Amino acid sequence: MGVGRMTDATVFDQYPLDEWKEPDHRIMRRFSLAGRKGFVTGGAGGLGRNVAAAWAEAGADVALVDLPSTRDTLEPLAAELAKRYDVNIVPLYCDVADREQVDALKKSLITALGTVDIAFINAGVNVPGDDADEPYEVWKKTIDINLTGAYMTAQIAQHIMREHNHGGSLIFTSSLSGHNANFIGGGPSPVAAYGATKAGIYEYARYLAAALAPYGIRSNAISPGYVWSGIFDGRITPDAHDLMIAPVPMHRFGTNAEIASAVLFLASDAASYVTGINLQVDGGYSVY
Ligand code: NAD
Repeated sequence: MGVGRMTDATVFDQYPLDEWKEPDHRIMRRFSLAGRKGFVTGGAGGLGRNVAAAWAEAGADVALVDLPSTRDTLEPLAAELAKRYDVNIVPLYCDVADREQVDALKKSLITALGTVDIAFINAGVNVPGDDADEPYEVWKKTIDINLTGAYMTAQIAQHIMREHNHGGSLIFTSSLSGHNANFIGGGPSPVAAYGATKAGIYEYARYLAAALAPYGIRSNAISPGYVWSGIFDGRITPDAHDLMIAPVPMHRFGTNAEIASAVLFLASDAASYVTGINLQVDGGYSVY
């Protein structure tokens, strides 16, 4: 099977066969984020704050990024996480759909954290009326926040990583709605533009995986299924809950911690050879 440089065996020295035999090797250390700096958009929300907590527990300093209207939630949340995990947690306010605010966010991140190694690009909305006859305004708002907002915040993250000459990890929140129309008891749920943005986010994450690999930057997406993140509380009936989980093989919603574990993995060196994937965390929904 000799192809090319068969005499230059040193090229193979980069592939250790049994790292576990090295005295200091500990596989669980790969999940540590000690000393890393990260930000989470949608940091006041269910998935965002749970990912921030996971990253903080793993040793990272984290900026929680959300709308100014979340101030009353974000300030005490930052204080609670900092106290519990003894790391630096900074609340930062930014509408991810506003270009000037995202430019200002870049400066605030550098001031607050020094740099950015990991970014959870997660802010998103499902605007009422997002169906086949949706008004232009519903479509535009969804695209502006979910897709353009993801692009703009990912841009500042990867530029900071490259300007500081280190690699990093971008994790985007796609959705099972980016893969199918969410069949709920007879028809699709209203995710027309939402699903389009979530499909777009995944392809954008894949493109960046290819383009940024030379800089040591990994780029992946997660696709949560139905997650009891807080957004459904008080909004769906037990009957609607049962209809939603009917096509889910595990027959339940997921939890915020189940998403946070996946995002911790992708952020950490445990995923050092993982880029361009869409990690479906959906109780098996996507197998049908
Ligand atoms: P959530 O509503 O609790 O969190 C979303 C957060 O985004 C909120 O804190 C909100 O203030 C923030 N946000 C909204 N618009 C923003 C803007 N313009 N700029 C900055 N921040 C903004 O919902 P969640 O369930 O935690 O959702 C987080 C992400 O996960 C979203 O992208 C959502 O589409 C996605 N998702 C959720 C589920 C689920 O079942 N919960 C499933 C698949 C995907």
